[in-house]
Amino acid sequence: MPELPEVETVARSLGPELVGRCVVAVTVRERRLRGGVARSFAARLTGRRIDGLARRGKYVLATLDDGRIWLVHLGMTGRLTLGPGPGAPARHDHVVVRLDDGRAVTYNDARRFGRMAVIEPAALDAETGAGLDPLGPAFTPAALFALARHRRASIKALLMDQRRVAGLGNIYGNEILFRAGVHPGRRAGRLSRAECGRIVEATRAVLGEAIRRGGSSISDYRDGLGRTGWFQLDHRVYDRAGEPCRRCGTPIRQRSIVGRSSFYCPRCQR
Ligand SMILES: [Zn+2]
Repeated sequence: MPELPEVETVARSLGPELVGRCVVAVTVRERRLRGGVARSFAARLTGRRIDGLARRGKYVLATLDDGRIWLVHLGMTGRLTLGPGPGAPARHDHVVVRLDDGRAVTYNDARRFGRMAVIEPAALDAETGAGLDPLGPAFTPAALFALARHRRASIKALLMDQRRVAGLGNIYGNEILFRAGVHPGRRAGRLSRAECGRIVEATRAVLGEAIRRGGSSISDYRDGLGRTGWFQLDHRVYDRAGEPCRRCGTPIRQRSIVGRSSFYCPRCQR
């Protein structure tokens, strides 16, 4: 499932190609994505120029010349890919957006948990939620400490709760807590200020490295130009149960925390 570094990589790979281009045609083949693709979607996007492309949480946001926002969430298996003009549609190609240079952006999503909409700027907070962006200036040790205080949930669950921190999922939740030396099952409300500081620092480090490596290609993730990411080769704990910790050699353990597999080193993470 694409998380922040993968979505950031998609936005960065598509930005230079899409900004300044106009949309000349939109084909919607499948409306049954998350929330449904609105009947007005194609009409709202056709004829518009793309003025900017950015990421917020796990959303790709394209600013249009009429001020509206074309919003894409990749869900579990979504891929937003720029390619040469429209050929024969592949299986699960649900939306095709043709550009004025003849190329086309295709949204492919086998499991259809993704979202595709053109919204008013005022609706953005309601769509994306108000969770802190972990690469934004507001994600500070003090802010994380305040979010964690009095919470009985585990720190892993807190980091993955999109209403509080937007963009992290299971891969990066595990990797960040290893880097910070904090056990994923620790109760959030019991963390010290120093531990929150280490988690914030580890978050920036892990996400920064992952973006530089083009994200993690675990199953079918590709960037906006169809390229795989390589950060999966640098995972320290995710999906490494039984393998030696790269820091101390202790076998990595796996345990279910709030329904998701947590991977951790019992010696390095307290
Ligand atoms: Zn270790």
